[in-house]
Amino acid sequence: MFWEKEIETISSSDLKKLQLIKLHHTIEKAKKSDYYKKILKKTKISTLKDIESLPFTSKQDLRDHFPYGLLAEDLTESVRLHSSSGTTGNPTVVFHTKEDIELWADLVARCMYMTGVRKHDVFQNTMGYGLFTGGLGFHYGAEKLGMLTIPVGPGNSKRQIWFMQQFSTTAVHILPSYAIHLYSSFQELSLDPKKDTRLKTAFIGAEPHTNALRVQIENLYGIKAYNSYGLSEMCGPGVAFECPQQNGMHIWEDHFYVEIIDPKTGQILPDGEEGELVLTTLKRSAMPLIRYRTRDLTRIINEPCLCGRTHRRIERIKGRSDDMLIINGVNIFPMQIEQTVMQFPGVGNNYRIEILKENHMDRINVLIEVHEEIFNGTLSKLDQLKNQIIEALKSECGVTPKVKLVEPESLPINEGKAVRVFDMRRNEEE
Ligand SMILES: [Zn+2]
Repeated sequence: MFWEKEIETISSSDLKKLQLIKLHHTIEKAKKSDYYKKILKKTKISTLKDIESLPFTSKQDLRDHFPYGLLAEDLTESVRLHSSSGTTGNPTVVFHTKEDIELWADLVARCMYMTGVRKHDVFQNTMGYGLFTGGLGFHYGAEKLGMLTIPVGPGNSKRQIWFMQQFSTTAVHILPSYAIHLYSSFQELSLDPKKDTRLKTAFIGAEPHTNALRVQIENLYGIKAYNSYGLSEMCGPGVAFECPQQNGMHIWEDHFYVEIIDPKTGQILPDGEEGELVLTTLKRSAMPLIRYRTRDLTRIINEPCLCGRTHRRIERIKGRSDDMLIINGVNIFPMQIEQTVMQFPGVGNNYRIEILKENHMDRINVLIEVHEEIFNGTLSKLDQLKNQIIEALKSECGVTPKVKLVEPESLPINEGKAVRVFDMRRNEEE
């Protein structure tokens, strides 16, 4: 069964009892790892609140104790590892036992079932397979649910469309930026995904995006797009997911103990306040993590959800604490810029943010693709749109950017995660 009524609608008091049992188990297990052995030596947990006395675990801790420092089981019990790309220094590596993989697949199946997809659906996975958890995580969840699963992987838009048409794909897992890009391939082939495919559901995630972008994807394809949240340190996708209400993501509290902290002070914030998401695994065997700082910024939506599930919801990820841009002393998230820009109907599919130093001041340039008819229309219309965008960005972000409206398809696209922020300040100062 993929609708686990007893667990998904558990009462708050029963959930707390369950979490306390699982937390004990997790701590005992974690003590078997070299890293947690010393840290947790004298740890006694009698209430859930006692977790607050334990130190946080950071991505740096995983790097510093690469590769086996946090492994809590004999290596022979592990059946797989996933690893994040290490741009500098060691990557973070996460191990999984057979049971971890099973529980992860169950969780992803629970998420997908929640949105309404069923065994008779055909699922096309356009995410990267391999060390990145997005591909395999969804793959096993979809197979568990019993769907015909097509592991196309990323890129090759014409092939994606061919598979969608030949096998009547109904559900797709896709990066939001790639969904927009793929739509232009439909147009090139004179196809309309609304009429020429049987798509009805998309799972979008793996890169922060705005609700405006989600709505755009839903309108272009005539589908419902559900937000998904996960991170490889916890398992991968499946940590939190949207229900049919599409208003925040239920974070599965039978698997994860959830805290929101002030990223600067580490202080725990009450529900509703925005801060950094901190997670403790409650069911993982190979590599339990305690109070792991995700660096993702969000808040808890505390009101009960109309779908009846009692697991609390988190709001869409606003960005990573390390994505925050400081422009002449003002804190800005790239998401705020996207949200503001995307609400203008003439705006196209892609944009780029550049930050430079000019006379010792930060200068922010936003390049935005606009629709063909706007770009080739009158100069005054183009100027008008530009000024409206500048005004909107000024009031949303508190800084005045330079805005340049450019031709459709003129900004570079990469097939992996979208890279849209180019901070050139450091290079120029050197
Ligand atoms: Zn719900």
